[in-house]
Amino acid sequence: TSVHFHIITLFPEYFDSPLSCGLMGKALEKDVLEVSRINPREFTRDRHRTVDDRPYGGGPGMVMLLDPLVQALNAMPPGCRKVLLTPKGKPLDQSLAASLAKENDLALVCGRYEGIDARLEELFDLDLVSAGDFVLNGGEAAALCLMESVARFLPGFLGKQESAGEESFSSGLLEYPHYTRPEEYAGLKVPEVLLSGDHGRIAAWRWQKALENTFRQRPELLTTRPLTSNDLDFLHG
Ligand code: SAM
Repeated sequence: TSVHFHIITLFPEYFDSPLSCGLMGKALEKDVLEVSRINPREFTRDRHRTVDDRPYGGGPGMVMLLDPLVQALNAMPPGCRKVLLTPKGKPLDQSLAASLAKENDLALVCGRYEGIDARLEELFDLDLVSAGDFVLNGGEAAALCLMESVARFLPGFLGKQESAGEESFSSGLLEYPHYTRPEEYAGLKVPEVLLSGDHGRIAAWRWQKALENTFRQRPELLTTRPLTSNDLDFLHG
């Protein structure tokens, strides 16, 4: 298999449905990727199997203990890239997903409660990754976003005709709009060009729409992506 994800989580069952349905379920059956779930609780040594404790300095909530996480990370295969899901991390984007898809082993550390004892970041070389500027209950939902976005780059994950290289962000632009039957619904018609069978015109139209979508919805994406000669043709044409 291409990537082996090792999810370190206090809630392994969180992933039951997402890993069994749709493309992800199929990919796991076909060994396109592999997923292991490791519960830090398995590494506790006390009778109560404690994974958290109160924060030094006071304040609400609990903090995840170092030792069970350290043991879980020490049990990772050699060369494993270790990701900590945290709101202070680098926001996950398509280029980060593409780079993570090149790894053999990826450990995904999911925090819960108020977070994890900060010394974990001193003990291991961790890539801090965020799902976005909002706060989740735990790292699990962020880990799922990461796994799905990485999986789409893996050979055999998408159908033969599809490729991650044609989706939103791959060209630095958002995607063009899609239409299917019926040709007219509530008076709304499918753009005529898509019915024309003229592949050149269709490609040009889609490029223009992608550029328009990006300009309207996420203009800041255009500031880091120089306009191509193709774009300029459309803008001036
Ligand atoms: N007290 C923390 C703060 O204010 O940043 C929030 C802790 S949150 C309730 C619990 C855990 O969820 C975090 O340790 C982290 O692992 C995960 N988490 C929350 N928001 C996240 C995000 N946007 N991206 C990635 N992980 C997140």
